[in-house]
Formats: sequence, structure tokens, C-alpha cells
Amino acid sequence: MSALVCGCADNKDDTVKMITEATFPPYEFLRGQEIVGIDVEICRAVAQKLGKNFQCETVDFDSVIPAVISGKAHLAAAGITVTEDRKKNVDFSDPYVKTGIVVVYKKGNPFKDTAQLKGKKIGVQGGTTSETFVTDELKQEPERTKSPAEAVAALKAGRVEFVIADIDPAKNCVKGEDTLAISDFITSEEYAIAIKKGQPELLKTINETIAEVKADGRLEKWVADFTAEADKLKDK
Ligand code: GLN
Repeated sequence: MSALVCGCADNKDDTVKMITEATFPPYEFLRGQEIVGIDVEICRAVAQKLGKNFQCETVDFDSVIPAVISGKAHLAAAGITVTEDRKKNVDFSDPYVKTGIVVVYKKGNPFKDTAQLKGKKIGVQGGTTSETFVTDELKQEPERTKSPAEAVAALKAGRVEFVIADIDPAKNCVKGEDTLAISDFITSEEYAIAIKKGQPELLKTINETIAEVKADGRLEKWVADFTAEADKLKDK
């Protein structure tokens, strides 16, 4: 899945390009061919504040941050957790969500604590903080997938025993699945927008935009609306 484009524009200089990974409801997901979600609206608001057109493209999660480092895109927003490692390569905006990762499990095989995960087959989306939880905390190799939904499909099929994923896509995945459940948070994380280092003006505009959409209720509305829409898509 690549080069899916939303918004419009041809003149490069007049366009703010967002790079994302659209398998992460409600932050970014596909409505038909269109990439929609909370992150898309935040980035669209940044473009509006800059008086520019807006364009959005989806790639695999591990290609999102490299796309702003190489200059292929201006804004990386994909439910990206701020981490010390990533801070070495990109600048982060102020955070716009407090969140974390959870364990998805079969009710017949209840999750109790993280010690229980040792030595088990665990599905994660590649390149994510769920992956680093498995490699760094559990000191083992996870089963990597392209999306939280794919990891949960592996759990249902019995190819993995547990899945670790961010809470919101995890909730979306287990919706309507009577045999699955999710744990409490096993980490505490924050999402922010990532940009190529050394752009204080752009960072300031992004932070102002985040403050505005928080203060005027737009962010809250996007969270409610896109959560409902993603849940509905799941029902189909
Ligand atoms: N928040 C997680 C991370 O940054 C997962 C993000 C995602 O899969 N889109 O690694």
C-alpha cells in the first residue's frame, strides 16, 4: 500500500506533505481510498495555519520516520510514540495524546502479568514500541506483522499466543470479537508529530496548532468521531 493520496495540490512548495501508516484506527485508517483519522486532521490544521495545501501518504510504519529525515515528507504523524531513541533522529512536537500499549489475549488464555509473556510467541506490528517492548524488556524476538489487525488475525488463528499493540487500535481490533480481550496499559506513552531536525519555526507552528485544537474542542471531537467511524467500519 503506497502513494495513496488525499487532499490536493501539485506545487510542491505550496503543499504540506504528511506521511503516515494508515492501519492504525482511529488515528489513521482508510475510508475507501481516502486516508482519514485524528492525525490527518491535526496535520491538515497545521497546513491550514501555514496557508498551504495538504497531502497525505501511507507507507509501512518503519518507513514513516525515515520519510521526514530524507525530506520526502514534512510531517510524520502515525500515532508515533515519543522515545529517546527516535529523538536522536527527529524533533518531536508537544505531545497530543497520553496512551500506551496493552496485551491482546484470548479469554481462554487470560493474561495476568508481563512475566507470563516470557518465551511466548507474541505478535506485534514491526517497528513499533510494542516490538521494542518484546526485544528490550522481554529480551526475545516477536512475530512481526504489518499492522495491529494482522497481528490480531495471527492470534485468532493460533499462530501467536499474545499480541501487544497500542490501546486504541487494539480496542478496534477486539471490537465484536467475543473470544478476545485486552489488558490494562503495560507502558505509558505519548504521541507527537515528528519532523526533520532543525526547523524551529515549523515546530512552533505545529505546537501552536496542537494547543489550539486541544483548547477549542476540535481534538476531542475528532477522537470521538473517528473512533465511532473506525468501529463502524469494523462492524461491516
Ligand atoms: N505508538 C507506537 C509506536 O510509535 C505504534 C504506532 C503505529 O503503529 N502506528 O511505535
